[in-house]
Amino acid sequence: MYFTKCDRMIRCRFCGKRAVEVLKQYRLSLCKDCYVKFYERQVERAVKKYKVVKSGERVLACVSGGKDSSAMLAVMKSLSETADFKLEAMFIDLGIGDYSEKSLNVAEKLCKKLDVKLNVVRLSDYGIRLENISTKRKKCSACGTAKRYLMNRFARENGFDCVATGHTSDDILAFFFKNWLSGNFSWSAKFLPRTEGFDKMVTKVRPLYFSSERENLLYCVCRGVPFLNENCPYAPSKDVWKDIIYDIERKKPGFKRCFVMNLVKYLKLKTHTGSNGESYRYCRLCGEITTSDICAFCRLKQRNAPVK
Ligand code: SF4
Ligand code: ZN
Repeated sequence: MYFTKCDRMIRCRFCGKRAVEVLKQYRLSLCKDCYVKFYERQVERAVKKYKVVKSGERVLACVSGGKDSSAMLAVMKSLSETADFKLEAMFIDLGIGDYSEKSLNVAEKLCKKLDVKLNVVRLSDYGIRLENISTKRKKCSACGTAKRYLMNRFARENGFDCVATGHTSDDILAFFFKNWLSGNFSWSAKFLPRTEGFDKMVTKVRPLYFSSERENLLYCVCRGVPFLNENCPYAPSKDVWKDIIYDIERKKPGFKRCFVMNLVKYLKLKTHTGSNGESYRYCRLCGEITTSDICAFCRLKQRNAPVK
C-alpha cells in the first residue's frame, strides 16, 4: 500500500530484482534491499560531509513514533555501528490521549528492536495539559515550545552533546518559504544540518535534512522499522506550504533535494553558528536561556496553572 503502483515490471538498477519504487528525483528504480542500502548511504554521506555528528559525541535522538523520527533513529543506529558516537532516544509524552499512548508503544517497540535506550519525559509532570488550550493552532504552538524546551533541558542535564531531530527536507522548505515570504530571516542560522550550541543551548542536529518524508516512509517500510501511521488529532487538516512544495516536486522531480543543498551553501556563506547575534538572558523562574524576562515554557506553565 505504501509503494507507487506501476503496471509493468521494473527491475532494480543495482541487482535486477523486481523494483518496488521508481525514485524520479534520482532517476533510479530500486528493490527493497537496495533501497535500504541506498537510503543509508545517502544519509551517511550527508552526515559526514556536513559534520552533522562529531567523533565521540553522545547524541540524544528525539522520537515521536512517526515515520520521520523513527527513520532517523534507525539510520543513526546503523551509522553508530561504524562511526564513533553514542546514541540514546527520548520520547516526550504530550498527554494527547490514545494518540500519545500509541506513540509511546511504537517508540518502545522501536527502541527495543534497535537496542537503543529510551528516555521518557512527561509534559503533565510540568503541569501542562494541551487539552486545556483552546484552539488547535495554540495547542501546536504550545506543543512546539514545550518540546524545544524539554529536549534542550533534558539533553543538557543528562550530559548529551547534541539533540537529533527528524526534520526533513519538506520541513526545511516549508519553514523557509513561510519565513522568507513574511520577511523573517533571523531563523536562517538555526536551520542548518547542524546548529552549534552556546551557553545553556545544546547543539541541534538534523541528520535527515536532505531526505524527504516519502524517502523516510519507504525506508521504514522496506527495513521494517516500526512507526505510527496516524496523525496527531490536533494536526492542522491542511499544510498549504507543503502542498505547494509537493506540487513543485511533482512537476520538477528533484526540486526539494536541489533546493536544500543550495540553501545550505547559501546559509553557510552568509551565517555563522551560535546565538545568531540575538541578545539573550536567563529565565527568572527556571534559569533557561530566553530573550525575555520569563521564558516561553514558564509562561506556558503559568497560563496552564489550575485556577485556585
Ligand atoms: Fe504537537 Fe500534535 Fe501540534 Fe504536532 S500536531 S505540534 S504533536 S499538538
Ligand atoms: Zn523558564
